[in-house]
Amino acid sequence: MADMEVGVMMSVGWTMEQIHQIRDLGFINIQISAPPEEILKDQSKKRELIDCLTDSGLKVTTVFVGFAGESYADIPTVVETVGYLNPDSRSDRVGKTERISDFANELGVDKVAAHVGFVPEDPTDPAHQPMVDAVGSVADHCKANGQAFSLETGQETAPALLHFLETLGRDNVKVNFDPANMILYGSGEPIEALGIVAEHVISVHAKDGKWPTAEGQLGKEFPLGQGDVGMGKFVAKLQEIGYRGPLTMEREIPDWNQKVNDLVAGKALLESLM
Ligand code: MG
Repeated sequence: MADMEVGVMMSVGWTMEQIHQIRDLGFINIQISAPPEEILKDQSKKRELIDCLTDSGLKVTTVFVGFAGESYADIPTVVETVGYLNPDSRSDRVGKTERISDFANELGVDKVAAHVGFVPEDPTDPAHQPMVDAVGSVADHCKANGQAFSLETGQETAPALLHFLETLGRDNVKVNFDPANMILYGSGEPIEALGIVAEHVISVHAKDGKWPTAEGQLGKEFPLGQGDVGMGKFVAKLQEIGYRGPLTMEREIPDWNQKVNDLVAGKALLESLM
């Protein structure tokens, strides 16, 4: 793969038809959200999907973990529903993550990534150690599969994320850096944040967005170049830190045709900046 080759994140609910459309637009690499449990738990359905993905000719660089019941409506809802923070769903979700890691392994993918949920900024917070244990456990499962486990940025500041990585102390726990999420969650200026976690970044999302305007709310995602990230600064900073992996565009809107138009425009923008 060429350095900083532009790719696409296929969000929850993607179809093979959409993957073929992305390929036919000239993309070579994608990240995918994990398939649902009914496929992960059914050997023949899982095999069929792996064969279809392999035959597509696209390179899957990362499989993203996701769970039923997650909602990104506002920050309190994210705290309640996303990742491993809620003790009611934690062990079930650790098990599902292991099935996703095994699926990725069968697909030949060496990176698994997740929104793990808000990591408490204060390491003495009683919710901190259970997060260390849960993420440590899934990271060890990934390690046995020869995989990195990456944490998606945004839900904590870069110094808190760095401290969490140091506490985990595992060499296969890495960062999927999403500059827009730093803005959407109000977690810090993204270019500065990228510098802080630079040595741990193994994949990135090219996504744009604007800062939140009310307490407890998330900011708003925008097409690449129309938000507050500064795509020129982002690409320049990636070059400065020596990042060479793909630039995986993520456009999280429900309208597929609009999404495709924005991805095509985004690819042209990114390529003009390199
Ligand atoms: Mg992202």
